Amino acid sequence: MSYVFIKIILSVSESISIYETAAVDRLRAELKFEPRRLRALRTAYFKKFLGMESALAELPAEVRDEFARRVEFHSLTVAETHDSQRDGATKLVLRTAAGYSIEAVLMRTGTGRVSLCVSSQVGCAAACGFCATGQMGIAKSLSTAEILDQIVLAGERMHFEGRPVRNIVFMGMGEPFHNEQAVYEAVAALVSPELFHYPPGRILISTVGIPDAMVRCARRFPQVNLALSLHSVRQDVREQLIPLAAIYSLEELRAAVAKANQIQKNSVMIEYLMLAGVNDSADDANDLAAWMTGLDVHVNLIPYNPIDSAPQWRTTEQPQRDAFAAILRTAGFTTTIRYSLGADIAAACGQLVQRENRQVARQQTTQATSVG
Ligand code: SAH
Repeated sequence: MSYVFIKIILSVSESISIYETAAVDRLRAELKFEPRRLRALRTAYFKKFLGMESALAELPAEVRDEFARRVEFHSLTVAETHDSQRDGATKLVLRTAAGYSIEAVLMRTGTGRVSLCVSSQVGCAAACGFCATGQMGIAKSLSTAEILDQIVLAGERMHFEGRPVRNIVFMGMGEPFHNEQAVYEAVAALVSPELFHYPPGRILISTVGIPDAMVRCARRFPQVNLALSLHSVRQDVREQLIPLAAIYSLEELRAAVAKANQIQKNSVMIEYLMLAGVNDSADDANDLAAWMTGLDVHVNLIPYNPIDSAPQWRTTEQPQRDAFAAILRTAGFTTTIRYSLGADIAAACGQLVQRENRQVARQQTTQATSVG
């Protein structure tokens, strides 16, 4: 008797996520309104980014409240927004229901295009020494809804500016391939004609370098772009920068890029963080060119955005960076230099929320200990 009662309470209080298409379709049937009304709601919410209220206005008045009560539209709340005074970057600090903060960064480039950088985790187990997120000391995966809500909240903001988001890059907090299923489900929702209907070629997933996952991703989403954070083609230097390099060798990574090339039309982006005296000599450039020979890749050189916990590193100065790029270009590789946006709002991912998240993690551990 009490079991049945609890089940009833649970089924009433548990809300459906707006992304669960089958469950939302069932709710529509239960509330008995026309399928075209639900299609209109989805168009308003996912494709036009008009916001929850406008989307709900597409439903018949008599079912609106019940639908809003049963369906969860947002899994995040906007805690802070920081607009850069220097350039077109806006950082959104978003809060999860568990109290963690994540960052999504909007970058408006001079050409008028807008890119959105999204997070896949709170913290990151890869623990790279140069990365604020890696140094947070925690790693919690976001749900599919939490990944997608970043896109909705940022999309609504850009809708009001009249400049739609063109590119979505998984380059925010976390390692996307440590949260593979949720990231794939998010990408599937993004490209789904029923939901966002977003072009796969404008999505990019950046990874610390997990060979098997790169190939799986290429197979499942051949049009989605891949980026590999290579940062050095010397095994010892790469291990010094990226602890996971000890597990995934440079040969395995090269084989994974070659495999992705066989599956995909687009070239793979090679990200290369520039650290003075560490990985930026002419020899480093020549060895990188040799490593890339035979691969369909392009290079993005990234100036280092200093973080407090890594005072030992400095970014490569411009003349040396240009010389490095020139060697790669002469060797035949398209090479761009990442224009660093939002330095004044600590746009290097994870920098703003590092301390807050450590606190939340500590509190939750204390609570769990005292409960247990
Ligand atoms: N985990 C994924 C995606 C997140 S990081 C990855 O490793 O690719 C996105 C990019 O920003 C990576 O190339 C990463 O190496 C780089 N990055 C991290 N911290 C940085 C910093 N302080 N300055 C410049 N680039 C940084």
